[in-house]
Amino acid sequence: MKFYACLAALLMATPAVAATPALVAPVNVPLTSPYGERMDNQVHKLTHHSGQDYAAKAGTQIVAAAAGKVIFSGWYGNYGQSVIVDHGNGLTTMYGHADTLLVKQGDAVKQGQAIATVGQSGLSSSQTHVHFEVRRGGTPVNPARYLKK
Ligand SMILES: [Zn+2]
Repeated sequence: MKFYACLAALLMATPAVAATPALVAPVNVPLTSPYGERMDNQVHKLTHHSGQDYAAKAGTQIVAAAAGKVIFSGWYGNYGQSVIVDHGNGLTTMYGHADTLLVKQGDAVKQGQAIATVGQSGLSSSQTHVHFEVRRGGTPVNPARYLKK
């Protein structure tokens, strides 16, 4: 019992986690589609959703989840107009299906700073929304684990 308690304390104190800033949601609206497996109504099968979707009105400002440096701003395949921000320690965030991009590659951004506006560029559902990904070492992880409660 004691061993496991120590292990838990150790895991919570892992430096990589401690160094990660708590992220804020990209738009101030409720989550409409979570990260994980979901039913794709077009092909009627379970697909993996690599991020979170937040449905918001076209033109709503998308803000940086944390301070960092813009490493990509432009057309990103199926995600359309997108921004990727590097927060250091191997952590990046991606914002897809935007309308207007407000930052360019190399820009430094603050947490909460507007970086793009909501749209439905790329391969998006009929609803305007932002596709928000959190990547650790380039691999998408569940954003819910990093967002401020
Ligand atoms: Zn999505």
